[in-house]
Amino acid sequence: MMLQQVEKTGSEHRNSPDGRVELSIVIPVYNEEAVLESLFDRLYGAMDRLDRSYEVIFVDDGSRDRSVAMLRQQYQKRPEVTRVVILRANAGQHAAIVAGFERALGDYVITLDSDLQNPPEEIEKLVSKLDDGHDYVGTIRHQRMDSKWRDVASKIMNRVRERISNVHMTDQGCMFRAYHRDIVKAVLDSQESQTYIPALAYIYAANPVEVVVQHEERAAGESKYSLFKLIHLNFDLMTSFSILPLQIFSVVGMLVSVFSFLFVLFLALRRLIVGSEVEGVFTLFAISFFILGVLLFAVGILGEYVGRIYVQVRNRPKFLIKTVLEKSVQESGPQHTATELEDAR
Ligand code: UDP
Ligand code: MG
Repeated sequence: MMLQQVEKTGSEHRNSPDGRVELSIVIPVYNEEAVLESLFDRLYGAMDRLDRSYEVIFVDDGSRDRSVAMLRQQYQKRPEVTRVVILRANAGQHAAIVAGFERALGDYVITLDSDLQNPPEEIEKLVSKLDDGHDYVGTIRHQRMDSKWRDVASKIMNRVRERISNVHMTDQGCMFRAYHRDIVKAVLDSQESQTYIPALAYIYAANPVEVVVQHEERAAGESKYSLFKLIHLNFDLMTSFSILPLQIFSVVGMLVSVFSFLFVLFLALRRLIVGSEVEGVFTLFAISFFILGVLLFAVGILGEYVGRIYVQVRNRPKFLIKTVLEKSVQESGPQHTATELEDAR
């Protein structure tokens, strides 16, 4: 993929007169009232220090707490660098990020969690890698500050995914990543209804790189991922980027058929030579239950793929936008009137 050379414009920044935005920060927010205030403090502080033109795009993913009110307030405080996309209902973190991508104007787009697990002060590190000509910057959490079981489960899933797909990420779980706008465009063009953005972006990257970043404990509030959601996400990750699970079952099927055939042959010969056998009923049970288990598992895996096809062909919108808070962006640059675009109900 051809990379546009990103021109550096010296000390032009924030409200750059030509309206050009260098960095877009996309942050999904779902019931995060407890952390937003400290996020605003640290994030805007870090961004202002970077001395580049930027925009922060918050995507409210159907929060039912005070998050929306707090985002509105923040928009009023810093309208020239803040945009808020409010979704009608909870669409999931990845769909929310896509909603942010659609509006991002920056040459570089950085995704970040709202719970301060990804320190905003590290954004600089990612940006400098993009400046070096990389088009995708992944991250490896230095010391993951999540519960032990999640750490272990995630490492196992990471390893499985690494084996079965062509996506190479040392730490798949961390959403703190930076992309060149070409990659973001490719992600938007993909039209996949359920996807895992870091992995999807990775397959379009020509020159990916990874950096080690600090990881902090959630500043406040609780994780929005239940065990069920995590399993769902991992299924997406496995089935979106590989059809190896299906192929494995074809091979297992073939092997079982070959062994069964040999077994039948053996029993037939035995019957002719030694006579019929009566013992071993439970061995037979054990074998058939095992094979039944394998079969059910195979049907389940097949179902995952069929389900994905079903969701994809239905082609329902990934998210519905309720309101957007942003300055109207025109070719001449941002206008200084805040507009609230409200769609018809
Ligand atoms: N999030 C979201 N929609 C959801 C779930 C989560 O926008 O349905 C956001 C959440 O507000 C946070 C980020 O995604 O900014 C990561 O969520 P969380 O911190 O709960 O996940 P964890 O760090 O536990 O994996
Ligand atoms: Mg988190």
